[in-house]
Formats: sequence, structure tokens, C-alpha cells
Amino acid sequence: MQVDTRRDGTVAVVRFSNPPVNVLSIANGTLDALSQALTGVLADPAVQAVVIASDGRMFSAGADINDFDLHADTLQRMRALTSDLIEGAGKPIVAAIHGMALGGGLELALACHYRICSVDAGLGLPEVTMGVLPGGGGTQRLPRLVGVARALDMMLGAKPVSASEALRIGLVDQIAQSDLLAEAIAWARDLKAVVRTSDRPVADDFGDALVEAGKRAARSRLSDAPAHIVTCAAAAASEPFDRGMAIEADLFEQLRCSESSRGLRHAFAARRKVAQIPGLPSDLGVLPIETVAVIGAGTMGVGIALALLAAGLAVTLIDAKAEALDAAQARVAGTLDGDVAKGRLTAEAATERLGRLALAPAIEAAADADLVIEAVFEDLAVKKAVFTTLDRVCKPSAILASNTSTLDVDAIAAFTDRPQSVIGMHFFSPANIMRLLEVVRGEKTAPSVLATVMALARRIGKVGVVAGVCDGFIGNRIFEEYLRQAYFLLEEGALPAQVDAAMERWGMAMGPLRVMDLAGQDIGWSIRKRRAVEQPDRPYSKIPDRICEMGRFGQKTGAGFYRYADGRTAQIDPEIDALIVAHSAEIGVVRREIDDREIVDRCLLAMANEGAKIVAEGIAYRPLDIDVIYLDGYGFPAERGGPMFQADVIGLDQMLTKMRSFAAGRHGWAWEVAPLLADFAGRGERLASLN
Ligand code: NAD
Repeated sequence: MQVDTRRDGTVAVVRFSNPPVNVLSIANGTLDALSQALTGVLADPAVQAVVIASDGRMFSAGADINDFDLHADTLQRMRALTSDLIEGAGKPIVAAIHGMALGGGLELALACHYRICSVDAGLGLPEVTMGVLPGGGGTQRLPRLVGVARALDMMLGAKPVSASEALRIGLVDQIAQSDLLAEAIAWARDLKAVVRTSDRPVADDFGDALVEAGKRAARSRLSDAPAHIVTCAAAAASEPFDRGMAIEADLFEQLRCSESSRGLRHAFAARRKVAQIPGLPSDLGVLPIETVAVIGAGTMGVGIALALLAAGLAVTLIDAKAEALDAAQARVAGTLDGDVAKGRLTAEAATERLGRLALAPAIEAAADADLVIEAVFEDLAVKKAVFTTLDRVCKPSAILASNTSTLDVDAIAAFTDRPQSVIGMHFFSPANIMRLLEVVRGEKTAPSVLATVMALARRIGKVGVVAGVCDGFIGNRIFEEYLRQAYFLLEEGALPAQVDAAMERWGMAMGPLRVMDLAGQDIGWSIRKRRAVEQPDRPYSKIPDRICEMGRFGQKTGAGFYRYADGRTAQIDPEIDALIVAHSAEIGVVRREIDDREIVDRCLLAMANEGAKIVAEGIAYRPLDIDVIYLDGYGFPAERGGPMFQADVIGLDQMLTKMRSFAAGRHGWAWEVAPLLADFAGRGERLASLN
């Protein structure tokens, strides 16, 4: 039963239910069932007023974003319910809001004639985060209730307001004192008049709010949603209601079909789905994790410890060097103090966290840990020593994880007699801040170990994505192809600032060369040296090596591809530009004009092509896993959905055509087409079908 209707004297109570968050779904019939129930009670002569309420933990999280793709008439159906049926009704309708009322959920309440909410309610229109605007009349009704300035703030900022704030600004009429439903019914019983939000005038005291919002919207480069929201708010302020509704519908439809909204919706759905692991029973129990030992108190170990402490776990940080332990203690305390100073943490919470941290010099201290995360030097011999000892001292149920970025997790597992308990947990630096966690499943990793680590990822606020064992796992293996193209572009005619600017204008948080300067070029240098031996047939540009030979490792040495006078801000360095031009001459390349389109195409297609190989090899379960890694670990813009989503946006046929033209150019060998792409293009299928 999705909608329950009952009578309380002259008041009809219509309660809808669509767990877990009461999405007003077309696909599963919730919206239709609600419409039918309302039609029924409104036609009943014994009913004089109606209360709309819902079951479960919130009023409603809004429309079902899957409907956006499945039902082109989503908007019309929503409006038939809100405008025609609810607002147009001849009997008073009260919305009884408990918990969150978001998006379409709040729009439904805005169309009601009266609103009452519980003290813990939150009301918001976060559609902008999905690259659309409130299309169920929200852009026209909200300004009529709370004023243009406040409405713009809510629609552009996407943050819900609290019950008390909602009462203060006129968004709700009452806050229930104790029993929301009983109070809503009692109130409805006395109501006579129908008060339509659409009949209210818009207060004209909004001053510069539209101008300010326009400036704010202009900062959104990839999505038109903020600008269109401002247009709708302006229409609410100056046009009759029906005209405003028509403008809203038109702009909603443009946004719904836009690449940026489709990208944002894909990102949203992918981030949810990434936790579902194909082949793992959903009821697989997870192992209890309360105490964690982190081995290696260096850069990563300390970041990992901070993340674990923040999630309430007890942490023992182990390092062979006393100085490393002292430094780690100071860094943990310093970071917590900083959080207190910034108001992010109370002094008591910081003390409590610090109280859960123990420091120890020997691996034996990991004996009782439920989970061990190793973060010692990236050297297989060192890892071997650590894992052999762990195998000897740890309790049998312990999970043994390695934070290695490049080594073979199966080889590490083989150092123990319990490879089923060994797994990779590849954190990104700084580990207490970066959200991505690549969870590397070894050949013998037990399903319960995988499920436990994925659950732990969520618990410590990370997005866990499962990767299989290969060099670089998913993220860094793809990044290598991205960088390869970026370096070749330098050899062929581009300069660092042009490559970075092109990628940043396209939406990447930071261009690839600036990323390398930030991460430290020495790491890439050592990988390239290793590659030169392992893969002599896949040459790299020598430009970054030349720069490293000058002792320029990036920000940490004050210079890399750029110069960093203040330690942070990249400044173009003519010396490097000259070095690049000279290098091209040295290797006999006549430099040419390279446009931004070619830069973006080559960098992006190199990523998607490698991604397709990774999917075909089973290293990633689905294309969406790769997208989430890039969205949450590599600064890929959510409006672009991720590299694999982009392959479908470009079209696989078109992608192949472009790759074939690149293959005819310099270093064409790097454009070996992933068979999966050719296969899917041939069959006219989209990669998304694998999600
Ligand atoms: P680091 O050099 O900063 O720290 C390593 C620490 O391990 C040192 O304090 C060292 O004293 C300690 N150590 C070494 N051998 C030990 C042993 N046998 N017993 C106990 N302690 C020992 O290194 P890091 O940058 O933190 O990297 C650690 C691991 O994390 C490496 O596997 C690395 O590949 C991986 N990783 C690093 C990054 C990064 O950006 N730095 C990112 C992801 C993963």
C-alpha cells in the first residue's frame, strides 16, 4: 500500500509511503497513487479539509531522478498533481511535514494551502546540485512565500532551512508542538478558506538580490542551472504566475536534457551504486572493526590515523623510528588543534580523539587489532618483512591491509599464510581529507573481508571503490595515459600553461602538469624510470625528466613545470617554456599550433580508452566505478560525469574516428583502441549499459 487514506471527522488524511525517503516516483507508481487518493477525497462531500502527510523518516526527498530519463512527461505529471489537483482544490489542504522536505517534496508542500512542520524539519530546494531547477512550480511559489532574495538563496545554495527559520521567513505557518499529525488535523478542521500561494503577490523589496544572484550564477561555468534559476526568480517578480510557470517549464526542460545535468545525475547515481559489489550477497555479514593498527607513521600513516580517529575508532600508530612517532604525535595533535581553532571541532572532542591514539615502536603492538593498515616505504622487501611479522603476531580474524600505490597486492598476500585476509586500501594524500579509497581486492581476498573494508570506508567518510590488482590499479593506471598525452602535447607545440588552462576551462579542478607539481614530480620520475625498463615500447616524453634533473620536483622545491615564489601559486617560468621549445628541436619535432580542443580530446580519450581496457579486464566492475574514482579522487567535474560517461556523451563511433586520426599522428602507437570500445561501437551500444 503506497498511499493510505483515512477520515478523522470532516478531515481526510492522505499518507504516502515510498521507502526509504518517500521519493515521488512515477516509475513505481507513488505519484499516481497519491494523485488518485487526493482525487478521491476531494470528491467526497463529507470531506471538508485534507492533510497530506507521509510515513517513514522524512516527508519526501523529492522527485525520482530516474524518472528524468525514463519519463519525458515527469514535469507535466508533477504539475498535474501540485498545480491542478492540490493548489486548484476547492477545499483547504494542509501539508504536515516531518523531517526533510526536499525538491519536489517541498514543491508539493508549497502548492498546499497551509504548511505545518515538526521541530526537526528541514526544507530545501537542492535541484541545482542535479543541474536542474525546481520545475514543479518551486521557482514561482517560493518567492511568493519568502521573498525573492531568500528564495534565490535557497535555490542557488541548495541548503535546507530549519523549522524555526522556515517559520520566521513564512515558509511554514506553524511548527507542531508535539504530535504533528494530530495538530495538523485539529488545525485543518477549523480551516475554511483556500489560500493559494500562486495568488500571493511577490514582495518588491528584494533590492539587488537578482543582480547579486546573477553574478553568483555566472561563476557556474559548466551548468546553466543557476542562471536559469535567476531568470525564473526574475519572472516570478515581474510576470503573472502562469507566465512564470511557462518560463520555468521551458528552462527545466532545457536543463533536464543538458549534458551537465545528465552528468550530475549520473555522478549522483554512480556514487550510490559503487558500494554495490556484483557477486557479493547483500546480506553478507561484516566483521566487527573497533581497533586499528597503522604501521608506518609517515605522510600516509598519520593521515589515515586521523581519518580513523575522526570516525571513533581506536588507533595504534606503529613506526620503527622513534623520531617518526614523535613527529606523528605532533602532527595529529597539531591537526586537531587547527580544527579546534577553525571551530570545526570542540576542544573536548579533540582531547577525546587524541585519547584514542596509542603509539608503539614494534609491530607486536598490532596483535589485538581488528584491522591493520600498512603504510611503510614503497618497497617490496620492506612490505615482506612487515607482512611476515603481521602474519605471526596478529589474531586470526584480523584483516591485513596495505596502502601500497604500485606494488602487487597478491604478492604481498603471498607473504602470509592467510591471503584471504589480505586486501589493498589505497588512500589518497592527504588521507584525512581526500574522499576516495581504492579498495584493492586480491585474487584470494575473502568476500567478507572485501565487504567489511567497503563498510569501513563508508564509516570513515570515504567513497570506497573496488579495484582489481594491476599496476596503478584503476586511478593511477588511467592517469598515466592522461599524462602521457599531456607530455606529448608539450613536445608537439603546447606549453604547460596552455595544457593546464585547456583542461581547467573544460572543468578539471587542476590541469595535469599542476597536479604533478603538487603531488611531487619525483614520484612520477621514479615510475618513469621503472617503466623505461618494463615497457621500452611505450616511450614517454623526456621533458618531465629534464625538469626533475634540474632538481625541480614541483611545489615542495619551489619549482617544477612552474615557479612557486610563495610556495603555492603557479607562475609561468620562461626558462621551462624555453627548455620545452629546445627539447622539441633536439628531437626533431617541428612545433605546431595546438588548439584547446585537441588538448582536451587527446587527454580525455586517452583516459576513456584505458578505462575501457580496465573494464574488459575486470579490474573495474563497471564503467561507473571508474567515473567515481575520477570524480572523487582526481578532480574530474561532476557536470561531465566521469571519463567513461564522457565516452558515451561523445559517442563511441565519434570517439573511434578521433582516435584513428590521432593514431595517424606522432606516437600513434599510444592509440591502440580498446577492443571493448570497438565492439560496443560496432553494435551501437553505450558503455552505460554495463553499469
Ligand atoms: P613515508 O616515507 O612518509 O612513511 C613511511 C613510514 O614507514 C616512515 O615513518 C618509516 O619510518 C616507517 N617504516 C618503514 N619501514 C618500517 C617498518 N618495517 N616498520 C615500521 N615502520 C616502518 O611514506 P608515505 O608517503 O606515507 O607512503 C607510505 C605508503 O603509502 C607507501 O606504500 C606509498 O606507496 C603509499 N602511498 C603514498 C601516497 C602518497 O601520496 N605519499 C599515496 C598513496 C599511497
